[in-house]
Amino acid sequence: MKIMPNRLDRGFFLYQEEFEKKALEVLRSGWYILGEEVALFEKEFAAFLGSNCCVGVASGLDALWIAFRALGIGRGDEVIVQGNTYIASVMGITINGATPVFVEPDEYFNIDAAQIEEKITEKTKAILVVHLYGQASNMEEITALAKKYNLRLVEDCAQSHGAKFRGKMTGTFGDIGCFSFYPSKNLGAFGDAGAIVTDDPELEKKVRIFRNYGSEKRYYNCVIGANSRLDELQAGLLRVRLLHIHELEQERKRICSRYLKEIKNNKIELPRIRDGATHVWHQFVVKTRRRNDLIEYLNTREIGTIIHYPIPPHLAKAYEYLGMKKGSLPITEAYADTVVSLPLYNGMTEQEQNIVIEAMNHF
Ligand SMILES: *Cc1c(COP(=O)(O)O)cnc(C)c1O
Repeated sequence: MKIMPNRLDRGFFLYQEEFEKKALEVLRSGWYILGEEVALFEKEFAAFLGSNCCVGVASGLDALWIAFRALGIGRGDEVIVQGNTYIASVMGITINGATPVFVEPDEYFNIDAAQIEEKITEKTKAILVVHLYGQASNMEEITALAKKYNLRLVEDCAQSHGAKFRGKMTGTFGDIGCFSFYPSKNLGAFGDAGAIVTDDPELEKKVRIFRNYGSEKRYYNCVIGANSRLDELQAGLLRVRLLHIHELEQERKRICSRYLKEIKNNKIELPRIRDGATHVWHQFVVKTRRRNDLIEYLNTREIGTIIHYPIPPHLAKAYEYLGMKKGSLPITEAYADTVVSLPLYNGMTEQEQNIVIEAMNHF
């Protein structure tokens, strides 16, 4: 049996009737951009997080760069971010002209809080925390540092919908939380979508105006904004998925508990969970020094895998101008050379899980 790294169709079929009903409802409504579905989704998602305000935007990347724009962070400013993130986190910083300053990750794949302080300069304006693979970062130390140095705190929650640190939702610790609802994310739409959450009504207003050409009132444009709106169809479908987010999270947790308990192979290092953090398992990422062999072996058994991510942002061609050489972030680079993500998706059958576990143990 062929097992793909991800199966988005399964997530659709889990709630097919509800998705189809909502899609027809929106299509028949005659209202497709910034309407009732978006307003309701913003309210419901903010309530889910325990945040004051949510503003829907067109993607996770837009959420990030618009967040920094709203905070007034740009040319000449530095933003601290972990080296081993998806490149969108870094683009959110550099689109505004600001400079990313990379910090190495800890053993949980998140920013190593103990290495942040030495990177703070008088140009540092913010820390961007990425809750990578679905696990909450060490928010106690990070929020303390942000406070001590009067830095803005932005969270990239594109992989961490519902993950908590000491009972508090990721996305609610800093000034702004940025979410992506790209179809493969834990709360996925059926196209591109994203959101910004904040407790600050001033920031909310700025983002709300910015996403719609810089206008609060139609045709009265007060700033040069963007077209970054969440559409009604995506918002409606996201509302359906949000109703089931707890079940979806539990299902991923069940699958990953099996992986953690049943995969026993001393060539494979399984992921760990930090004290006080929860993990919503966007990805199940293992490390192995024999990665090529493992991937090849799984391929012969028709099991697909993905590497998140093979080239760290500081070594991407796009960031050549930063002048960072191979070897400048050894832990980040070692992770890029050894990580691999196992198949994981809502609607994964027990038989599919068995096949993955068995192959991992036989490798
Ligand atoms: C997916 C992702 C993004 C970007 O989201 P898009 O909706 O694809 O623009 C940003 N950061 C991280 C960590 C992501 O995984």
